[in-house]
Amino acid sequence: MEVIGYSVAGEETVVAVPELDVCFDVGKAPDQILSVNYVLLSHGHMDHAAGIAYYFSQRDFREMAPGTAIVPARLAPILEGLLDHWGRLDGTRPPGKIIPFGPGQEYELRRNLFVYGFATNHCQDSLGFTIIERRLKLKAEYTELSGPEIARLRKTGVDVTYVLNMPLVTYLGDTMGGDFEKLECVRRSRILIAECTFFEPDCWDRARAGRHYHFDELAKFLQQVECEHILLTHLSRRTDIRRARKLVDQALPEEVSRRVHFLMQRPRQKWEEKLPENEE
Ligand SMILES: [Zn+2]
Ligand SMILES: [Zn+2]
Repeated sequence: MEVIGYSVAGEETVVAVPELDVCFDVGKAPDQILSVNYVLLSHGHMDHAAGIAYYFSQRDFREMAPGTAIVPARLAPILEGLLDHWGRLDGTRPPGKIIPFGPGQEYELRRNLFVYGFATNHCQDSLGFTIIERRLKLKAEYTELSGPEIARLRKTGVDVTYVLNMPLVTYLGDTMGGDFEKLECVRRSRILIAECTFFEPDCWDRARAGRHYHFDELAKFLQQVECEHILLTHLSRRTDIRRARKLVDQALPEEVSRRVHFLMQRPRQKWEEKLPENEE
């Protein structure tokens, strides 16, 4: 699964998983995410939500089907109003579907693929999302049977299947620690996308005030999850990614730290490699 995006605290956050047809937050609606059909909006802060009208409008301009945004319920009428205003400014109201969503709710994105919402701990009604693949599986006791035998059992009313939920990707949006840390679907998600805005010891107060994770708090949580990959986003500009990497490797057992990645790692490294040349 490919995860693409851009994320710097306060500036812009947009994280897409094209294979699953979802984009977590929309940032300033970069070109690369326009073909994704679902935007899952975690909260209304400008760095996460600014591009929503542009996303809808660009899809229309490029003759794509209207996009869908799944958003915290309280924001749905506000966003509809925003699109109305754009209609007045632009002459055309950006066509798009806005679906009000909340903690504990589920929405079917496509066959066997669902998004589940849960409350995070950042601002009023902020949401996190888990993308869940759901399949009906044959119960172990029937796996040896032939097709016709299973069909016969079914006809007699025996329930031969069970539901298997596979949490694929979880996105926490902006948040500090909270009750969502206990959710099975979060802990067992194959990929966990978590924000970590602050790393430096003198930033604890700022983390608390903005209700963001400080790495010291996140580190405790990361040691409890089973996720194959943990992707950190939303670093503040003041944290150099190489320093953050070093702090992660120092603070976490190797078994955990090797599963931790940074969303912006590669492009930043490339950019930094170019620096000496640019300075000449
Ligand atoms: Zn943010
Ligand atoms: Zn925020």
